[in-house]
Amino acid sequence: MPITKRQEQEQSANVGLCQSCAHSRKITSAHDSVFYLCQLGFTDPAFPKYPRLPVLTCAGFTPVLTQC
Ligand code: SF4
Repeated sequence: MPITKRQEQEQSANVGLCQSCAHSRKITSAHDSVFYLCQLGFTDPAFPKYPRLPVLTCAGFTPVLTQC
């Protein structure tokens, strides 16, 4: 089922920066739980692989570039 704009905004607020970071990968479990994996965590121990959400500040944040 598609999510509404409001649900999308609430989800974004709950996740924080990882929602729009090039280093994050959204993972959905078999039980429909959603996790955000920080791929910087594979090479830099300063970044937890599964950061506590919402991430409000992060030195590794790299915004995803979108095409217009
Ligand atoms: S670098 Fe920071 S903002 Fe980006 S995915 Fe990792 S924890 Fe989230």
